[in-house]
Amino acid sequence: MYPPKIGYVIPENIDETFDFLEDHEDARPLAGGHSLIPALKLRIIRPSYLVEIRRFKELNYVKFEGGKYRIGALTTHYDISKAGVPLLSQAATKIADPQVRNMGTIGGSISHLDPAADYPASLIAADAEVKIKSKKGERTVSFKDFAKDMFTPDLNPGELVVEIQLPDLRNYKYSYEKLERRAGDFAIVGVAVLLKLSGDVVDDVRIGLTAVNNVAVRAKEAEDELIGKRLSQELIEKASSRAVERANPSSDIRGSAEYKKKMVKVMTKRAIINALGGKI
Ligand SMILES: Cc1cc2nc3c(=O)[nH]c(=O)nc-3n(C[C@H](O)[C@H](O)[C@H](O)COP(=O)(O)OP(=O)(O)OC[C@H]3O[C@@H](n4cnc5c(N)ncnc54)[C@H](O)[C@@H]3O)c2cc1C
Repeated sequence: MYPPKIGYVIPENIDETFDFLEDHEDARPLAGGHSLIPALKLRIIRPSYLVEIRRFKELNYVKFEGGKYRIGALTTHYDISKAGVPLLSQAATKIADPQVRNMGTIGGSISHLDPAADYPASLIAADAEVKIKSKKGERTVSFKDFAKDMFTPDLNPGELVVEIQLPDLRNYKYSYEKLERRAGDFAIVGVAVLLKLSGDVVDDVRIGLTAVNNVAVRAKEAEDELIGKRLSQELIEKASSRAVERANPSSDIRGSAEYKKKMVKVMTKRAIINALGGKI
């Protein structure tokens, strides 16, 4: 289908963007366009204007500053995949195909908030924060609170995501494992694991699940099973079984709910073992 007729605005700078968005409540920022354009073509959304933000270089960066990883909202999946951010860079390599990774941005992905998107498992595991700006000011919220429901970010009219922040994860082992029907698909199940060890005892562990709820969730029961204990095959098996307790998937073209639950266990086990370098 062709998209409906809409206005197209190319602001000179970010301040002009905030002015325009403030005055036009149903205008939509256009970043990589890889979720927005399909939604327009399907006529799921009918904004008055598209406001091009893609070219603003000041929102395209990855840096480690003030003890945090700071990622500009307009950084592409490709650039994140090359930036060496623990866990998140690995997740970026698993998004779609090279075309999508070259155009799509992290700000666009979390503002779209597809329940099967890849970043949310890592962002929820890492306790990431989202910096949001508008003409009225600036606020920072946890990713957990930002992701209110599927396709429902905590964004008011006139607001833009400007930065995603992750804590220092350099002492963590990590892995993001994605089960997909074929390369380039959205996840059937995605599991992100962050693991901090003291010898072979688990000091800290965070497990994020995507594609098995309306929004990404932490597998708290699995984490509790691991924390403070010496790693063993049996322990990992038990913890992976408990990850299923936080999965509430729906049956769809990617598989039945029952199948997806079984895969949560398999992918959690795989993610923990891969975080440990493939052996225990
Ligand atoms: C064929 C295909 C396969 C895909 N496969 C995957 C996959 O395997 N895994 C995955 O995670 N994703 C996948 N995607 C989605 C892809 O990652 C998109 O790039 C992403 O969801 C949207 O990013 P974008 O920059 O293209 O945003 P856009 O499409 O430009 O925007 C998406 C939404 O966010 C809003 N928006 C954009 N930027 C901002 C901002 N800074 N602040 C506030 N609102 C903003 C827009 O107004 C729009 O509502 C796929 C997409 C396609 C087309």
